[in-house]
Amino acid sequence: MTLAFAPDSIPLDPRHVIGGQRVAGVERLAVVRPSDGVTAANLPVADASLVDEAVRAAHAALDRSGWGRAMPRDRTRAMHRWADLVEAHAAELARLEAVVSTRPVDELPGGDIAITAEQIRFFAELADKEGGTVVPTRDASLGMIVDSPIGVIGAITPWNFPLSMAAWKMGPALAAGNAIVLKPSEMTPFSTLRLAELAVEAGIPAGLVNIVLGDGPTTGAALVAHPGIGKVSFTGSTLAGSAIAANLAATGLKPMTLELGGKSPQVVFADADADLAARSIARSILFNAGQACVAGSRVIVARKAADELRERLTVLMRQPRVAPTWGEGSAGYPIISGKQLARIDGLVQAARKAGAEVLLGGGPMQAEGFFYTPTILATDDPDNPAIREEIFGPVLTLQTFEDEEEAIGIANASQYGLCAGLYTRDLSRALRLTQRLEAGTVWVNRYGRSRDHILPTGGWKQSGLGHDLGREAYRACRRTKSVLIDL
Ligand code: NAD
Repeated sequence: MTLAFAPDSIPLDPRHVIGGQRVAGVERLAVVRPSDGVTAANLPVADASLVDEAVRAAHAALDRSGWGRAMPRDRTRAMHRWADLVEAHAAELARLEAVVSTRPVDELPGGDIAITAEQIRFFAELADKEGGTVVPTRDASLGMIVDSPIGVIGAITPWNFPLSMAAWKMGPALAAGNAIVLKPSEMTPFSTLRLAELAVEAGIPAGLVNIVLGDGPTTGAALVAHPGIGKVSFTGSTLAGSAIAANLAATGLKPMTLELGGKSPQVVFADADADLAARSIARSILFNAGQACVAGSRVIVARKAADELRERLTVLMRQPRVAPTWGEGSAGYPIISGKQLARIDGLVQAARKAGAEVLLGGGPMQAEGFFYTPTILATDDPDNPAIREEIFGPVLTLQTFEDEEEAIGIANASQYGLCAGLYTRDLSRALRLTQRLEAGTVWVNRYGRSRDHILPTGGWKQSGLGHDLGREAYRACRRTKSVLIDL
């Protein structure tokens, strides 16, 4: 069944959600549909005083409802009902998301929305299973590590997977007994607003989930700096993550989780299953047109396997598609904005000028909206801009290596360390490399996240600090206290 729709038929409600109410503001930030370049709505921008209102509403809701002090199983139950409502409203959420994002509507119910519901359930189930510990001390005393909710969590999300990014933040925050004030990306806020309303419909007390709309420098910065926020949880670029860390240093330190950018390598050895490797690499860079933090955009291939991989990839990636996200079965992913399209092309042209050979693509597609041709660039120059910069588009680079040491050196020569992929049939080599690759996640003979939400995700080096998903994300929404009692 298709959820295809006419883009103008979707009513969009650009109002904040504060204390369970929709709150209007002066609409001044254009939300543009990437599929056709048309302005779909204008958003208000929450200033410091409106952010303050949202943070106060969150504290008041926590106090009134006793959410953090109640039976943990009550939180679990309410969150399960919320996940059920997310599934029941899949068609509505899918259209709200697809109309202004890069996500094709027919991919959403079985993809991002199913994952959003699963992630809410995953965290809900931790509420009555994670707890403190009694620790070894001398017999005459009792030592315990106890934990409690932090209070109000300030979260900021990017545009590339709006619903599941919101679930990464809301799920652990609520399950762990906190309230949340979340600022979604100003480019893709509508599905997140509806997700917050569904939380209230599911019985999660109004005011525990607040959504403030606006840009980074005004709304995001005010949220980060607010003294009533107990922890900041951010997903986005390394540049904005650094601005947030600087903001916290200037306005008062708080715990923070930063999920940032990447430039992840995929290393292909000569003994790899060539068909599997090529398909996996092509899928990983074509999915969402490479607009994924985990995009495996740096392919590093054994010199003697390079020609074959090159040929396979140019065939698999020769499928430029201009198709709007609201079309039937569409898998033509647009680029999120005209600005981002120009940035991608600027980097590709700079790479070409610096000596990279263009094996495929290399320019924007003719379209009303923003679409870029899948592109492959070959270069062994480690300083080429396409090797160094996160491009966040459907652009692969190909580098070659002679032996394992060289492969590891090339893979690790990046300021980022989010993920890495590895293709080989040699088990010992696979194990050696999983230890030596500098990345928070390593995939072997596959590439991309699975639905195993128990696996935490987090970056090394400039790719981040702390984790989303897994028990780690839940625990990062609690704070611990050491207790020692003399008996
Ligand atoms: P972005 O950093 O431009 O924006 C992300 C969010 O931060 C937006 O809501 C934005 O309004 C806000 N923001 C911007 N500047 C801010 C500031 N100074 N203070 C507070 N908030 C601010 O990123 P984007 O373009 O929306 O998303 C793409 C980036 O996100 C890529 O770099 C990608 O790798 C990264 N990302 C990382 C992960 C991960 O798990 N590591 C997941 C998804 C996306």
